[in-house]
Amino acid sequence: MHDPIPTITFPDGRKVPVLGQGTWRMGENRAGAADEVRSLQAGLDLGMTLIDTAEMYGDGAAERIVGEAIKGRRGDAFLVSKVLPSNASRTGTLAACERSLRNIGTDCLDLYLLHWRGGHPLTETVAAFEELKQAGKIRAWGVSNFDVDDMEELAAVPDGGNVAANQVLYNLARRGVEFDLLPWCRGRGVPIMAYSPLDEGRLLNDADLIHIAKAHQATSAQVALAFLKTRSGVISIPKTGSAGRARENRDAMDIHLTAENLAELDRHFPPPKRKTRLEVI
Ligand code: NAP
Repeated sequence: MHDPIPTITFPDGRKVPVLGQGTWRMGENRAGAADEVRSLQAGLDLGMTLIDTAEMYGDGAAERIVGEAIKGRRGDAFLVSKVLPSNASRTGTLAACERSLRNIGTDCLDLYLLHWRGGHPLTETVAAFEELKQAGKIRAWGVSNFDVDDMEELAAVPDGGNVAANQVLYNLARRGVEFDLLPWCRGRGVPIMAYSPLDEGRLLNDADLIHIAKAHQATSAQVALAFLKTRSGVISIPKTGSAGRARENRDAMDIHLTAENLAELDRHFPPPKRKTRLEVI
């Protein structure tokens, strides 16, 4: 028996489990496609309902894998995709969203993000997001790779306060956001989506983490995800193309790190003592 995955509430009141699924690099290799679809489906079966993708990933190929995975079960998934900054003009955003909807084979995204800041003014992108919301093509919009100063600039543009999420690099080895961005977002009820929660796999071989994980009869991936579960206002989105590893990641939600465990993790992966510029991948 599993503990239920804790949930987080988006600004519009929708609740989503704090462990979702990433899709970067899916769809890039034909041989792996069936496993990737099965992995996402296994994750959905286990309650990891938020699926994160982007038009950039494999130039639409990851979105098509997501489409395969949710065929006949759109209602089980909370779908997130992203517009590339180079497409994020007013008309470019509308067109990019249509392409993503076609790739996935759905008529509405649950959340649509600006992948990172580019040359188009935020006013234009936000106006397009609001238009998509009015048209019923997206339910909410947000941003990615925005630091505190970007969030403040966004808050000052018309409708900028409607931002529903900020997706950023956050894991045990990269805790800079804990100093300022995470508290800023928490204070405004804007969830942080932690991307690369396993540091793109690098954390898996960390000797200290392996040592701590052994004490829990767990894997290093599981402790890295269990750590993020202890942070309020955070959803993590590990990517795996294996149904077995999707199950392993789901099982991480049954791990309850104690204050002592967290202190040990702090010793090996110190929290930030001052502001650092937001790291990006
Ligand atoms: P990640 O989730 O930190 O790590 C993925 C790597 O870990 C893959 O190599 C995967 O391999 C492996 N893995 C996953 N679960 C495992 C387990 N239980 N045991 C052993 N290995 C495991 O890295 P990520 O893909 O960079 O980040 C996650 C998602 O965040 C992305 O897929 C994407 O959706 C999003 N993202 C967003 C941005 C942005 O700019 N907004 C940037 C980066 C990522 P297998 O597939 O072989 O299991």
